[in-house]
Amino acid sequence: MRENSIHIIGGGLAGALVAGFLARRGFNITVFERRADVRRADVGGGRSINLALAERGLNALRRAGIEGEVLANAVMMRGRRVHARDGSTRLLRYGRDDSEVIWSINRSRLNALLLDFAESGGAKLLFGKGVQSIDFARRIMRVVDEASGVETSLPCSLALGCDGAGSTVRAAIGREIDIEERFEPLGHGYKELEIPPAPDGGFRIERNALHIWPRGGYMAIALPNTEGSFTVTLFLPNEGPYPSFATVRTTDDALALFEEEFADAVPLMPDLENDFASNPVGMLGTTRVARWHLRGQALMLGDAAHPIVPFHGQGMNCAFEDCAELDGLIDGAQDWAEVFAEFQRRRKPNADAIAHMAVENYLEMRDRVDDADFLRQRALEHALAERFPERFIPRYAMVTFRRVPYATALARGRVQSGILQELLATHPDSEFDPTRIDWADARALVEARLTPLD
Ligand code: FAD
Repeated sequence: MRENSIHIIGGGLAGALVAGFLARRGFNITVFERRADVRRADVGGGRSINLALAERGLNALRRAGIEGEVLANAVMMRGRRVHARDGSTRLLRYGRDDSEVIWSINRSRLNALLLDFAESGGAKLLFGKGVQSIDFARRIMRVVDEASGVETSLPCSLALGCDGAGSTVRAAIGREIDIEERFEPLGHGYKELEIPPAPDGGFRIERNALHIWPRGGYMAIALPNTEGSFTVTLFLPNEGPYPSFATVRTTDDALALFEEEFADAVPLMPDLENDFASNPVGMLGTTRVARWHLRGQALMLGDAAHPIVPFHGQGMNCAFEDCAELDGLIDGAQDWAEVFAEFQRRRKPNADAIAHMAVENYLEMRDRVDDADFLRQRALEHALAERFPERFIPRYAMVTFRRVPYATALARGRVQSGILQELLATHPDSEFDPTRIDWADARALVEARLTPLD
């Protein structure tokens, strides 16, 4: 490869990981990160924000050689613990057993481990340096020192945009070519709250689960942190009738909403009103970008290329898969333009597929996880997966525990959903009863429509 000197814009999750991959290949890597070094400063403002890590992300961390260290800092989640309005709960397992689980990891801690990985490979990390713009014709980048406000111009031949959903690199590429950027707002936002550890330092609710309070149209979830707390995220419509962020504005409104709808969580959240008042409402949406690269000069990856809504817990996992794919493409490649074009060819259909599934998963989580029809479909899905494990793999499992391309998971998921509906068409509206299923018919449908998945 002719260009050896690479500027990585953004030292977040994707930026730090790809910096490590490329640095250990001997490229001359400089990372420009707008914020302070998470290893030295508390950039989260004291809040513990966590993410669900699954097989795609773990695989990339394995490639980096840091999977063990990351998992040592994570809490296993074996399923969704669904909290009904009356306070009763039930666990819906994610997979067959504890070999199919996801992991809750603190964002800052994970970022710190990735920055160590990048640095140990030889990457140069510059913190407090925000990239303002890139002039690709003149091969110059403008960088501002966040502390002093002083701007400088630096030569920039090759830029990797790992600067997240509001990417400056994307805007710079968009000034050169038509990238066909389109934003689809979800119409819902989120607010992060907290369940602190119990007075004895333990967990106040079941530790190894993702807790969810589905309420049809909105919901709250809670993910565990190693130190005994849970990060609670409340998702509500931005506008419209109660409850929405337009109608739940004050701490009294928030307390009233929780007392009505999430009553069992209220005694667990002594700082609910404070947290509600202090923490901002985050906006959610999907950004579609048709072109991710500019000649051999720039490429975006992670959220810079494909910001999605967080309901499949796959944004970071997809970003890590991007990093591993890019790393693999470098083997035997002649020039960057070729690598970037191939990267987009492989990743774009998969990014589109997970974007779609993430929106669908929101509807499932908030509206369906406790409805009878959904539970019946889930029960049949499990039964089919047990009988035909090579062919019928629940879509959630394909996305979360396997590495089949997201686009394949989406396509096979549609076929599987058709099979479920056909088999349940004659099933009465009651509890799932396996003796009422015609298993010969089921076998014929599965074998005709689904090839074995390696
Ligand atoms: P980011 O993590 O956004 O990192 C971008 C970095 O670039 C930041 O450090 C930023 O400071 C820096 N930067 C930005 N602009 C500049 C600039 N101009 N110059 C220099 N530096 C710059 N994903 C999952 O897989 N599992 C989950 O459970 C999950 N939960 C989520 C929950 C919520 C509420 C949200 C909003 C997202 C969630 N995600 C989850 C998605 C995940 O957070 C993102 O997909 C992931 O952070 C993408 O990583 P990234 O490195 O591409 O971008």
